[in-house]
Amino acid sequence: MKGILPAWARMGDVAADPITHHLYVHVPFCRLVCAYCDFATVGGRAADIPRYVEALRAELARRPAPERLETIYFGGGTPSLVPAAEIARLVEAAVDRWGAAPAEVTLEANPSAREAPDWFGLRASGVSRVSLGLQSLRDPDLRALARGHTAEEARRAFAAARAAGFDNVSIDLIYGIPGQDVAAWREGLRAVVGLEPDHVSLYALQLALAPDEWAAPPRPGALRWRRRMEALQDDGVAAAQYRLAEELLGAAGFRHYELSSWARPGRESRHNSAYWARRPYTGIGAGAHSFDGAGRRWWNHRGLDAYLDAVESGASARAGGEELDEPTRAFEAVALGLRRVDGLPRERFRTEFGVDPLERYADAVRRGAANGLLAVDEEALRLTPRGRLLASEALLGFLPGVPADAVPA
Ligand code: SF4
Repeated sequence: MKGILPAWARMGDVAADPITHHLYVHVPFCRLVCAYCDFATVGGRAADIPRYVEALRAELARRPAPERLETIYFGGGTPSLVPAAEIARLVEAAVDRWGAAPAEVTLEANPSAREAPDWFGLRASGVSRVSLGLQSLRDPDLRALARGHTAEEARRAFAAARAAGFDNVSIDLIYGIPGQDVAAWREGLRAVVGLEPDHVSLYALQLALAPDEWAAPPRPGALRWRRRMEALQDDGVAAAQYRLAEELLGAAGFRHYELSSWARPGRESRHNSAYWARRPYTGIGAGAHSFDGAGRRWWNHRGLDAYLDAVESGASARAGGEELDEPTRAFEAVALGLRRVDGLPRERFRTEFGVDPLERYADAVRRGAANGLLAVDEEALRLTPRGRLLASEALLGFLPGVPADAVPA
């Protein structure tokens, strides 16, 4: 069987079926908005949750339901602020719309006692996977991030999810936190491994604003906090923390399958794997993006009120869109393919773009290989362990319009 599938169809369960579709549901509500957060979120608007859920249902009813729904992902924001009964109604609406239950339904949850969801209700709602925003199991790190929970609350939330029957729990961690040295990171990571989660995602604390984020910068106080904290960050420590995570999580039986993601066998995120394989998805809710799996991407109004006004007046929630040209599509295929530890399948790229990536990007590949960032074999082009630390540099030479010699030697 394996031999008659194209290589891109062997990338994992999600991409093995070329007719799958994926639904992202954005929930922008948070109890408080964290100073380092770049997501579309609002604080102190929990009273609008019922109205928002109605808007999501209305938007879903108006959107096409193509192919077979494989996954649903409730992301945010803090989706665990939405009552379990409302999550159940949303899952049910999606199942009705597509005519079948998806294989994976993930919901992001915060561990603070004040935001504790009804775990048993959530389990009964159709959610099969929980992504817990622990960030750290050390109180000094949580205080540095001004998170609203303690390490003890994080442990309790994990135990509560397990007690309710969730056998697929992912933990999000942040590294590169000022004041968190390598020994502290090791201690926190060991504590996380001790909880025996099914999946771990690691995110570097990103405090510098990307150029496009200056269009809607964070509030002045948050900006000052970010600048102060950024001055205390140390790239060398962050790199050592990432390497240590590769070592410790690997030794604990987790497979590193994507730049930021480790999973026990069979516990890889099917939803996120669909993004990295450039599968089509529908995004509903404020600021949610959708992609047709080829070259068209569009997005909803980011502001909560603009989104609610549009949907409630019967108008489209769509705020904009773009048609990706061929060089951009090819670059995205490389950028997302290289996120996977197994790399960019050369055959899939050839099938879509008519040329081997090694030929199309000969200079970038040669320079990347020469400086130890890229490795190549018959099947794939992939980042080396050093390349995983310097992924942005490794990608520079593939950018449309950027000369390959821009890649640092
Ligand atoms: S709780 Fe999470 S989503 Fe909400 S503001 Fe903080 S980091 Fe952002």
